[in-house]
Amino acid sequence: LKTAIENYILELKKITNLTKRNSEKLLMDLMNENKIDELSSFLNKIKNSFSECPTCFYLMENNFCESCMSDKRDKSKICVVSNILDAKAIIDKDIFNGTFHILKGEIDLNKNVAPTDLKISELFDRINNENIEVIIALNATFKGELTSNYLIQEIKSKNKKVSRLARGIPFGGVVNYIDRETMDNAIKNRNKL
Ligand SMILES: [Zn+2]
Repeated sequence: LKTAIENYILELKKITNLTKRNSEKLLMDLMNENKIDELSSFLNKIKNSFSECPTCFYLMENNFCESCMSDKRDKSKICVVSNILDAKAIIDKDIFNGTFHILKGEIDLNKNVAPTDLKISELFDRINNENIEVIIALNATFKGELTSNYLIQEIKSKNKKVSRLARGIPFGGVVNYIDRETMDNAIKNRNKL
């Protein structure tokens, strides 16, 4: 019996990305029958409400993308981030009025993640014909720097405007966790390249 339960915990851990301890706790909570029904109708609600924007890869709620469909956003600026959480963190801080582009990862030589595995060609489709400024807002980590440098080189070779967040974000800084003031300064004082 122990092994059987263990397998369910591991499966849940794999699906949710929770720690093993939290997966175990969640599984035990779900043993209550009402909770399973509640959760499954909640999951259905998520499934019916959210989808991925085919243009910027942000979350669409009821087919509306806050990043590219809101008329309050300046379509001539595209802030490039590695994941949805980073875009959401910047939107929630209310410090940037442009649109976003989610790369869905970062270049990672150890895990064989190449530029072609990211939403980079989709980014170039967006900037090809128009006078758009791309603002790179990737994490100040090794993978983030590698990806930033690759993008900057490619964008400059196409003679497009590109800038990146001002220094001031400590090395290792992760966009999602940077406080509002630091991020606000980093965007306002972004370096044109
Ligand atoms: Zn979008």
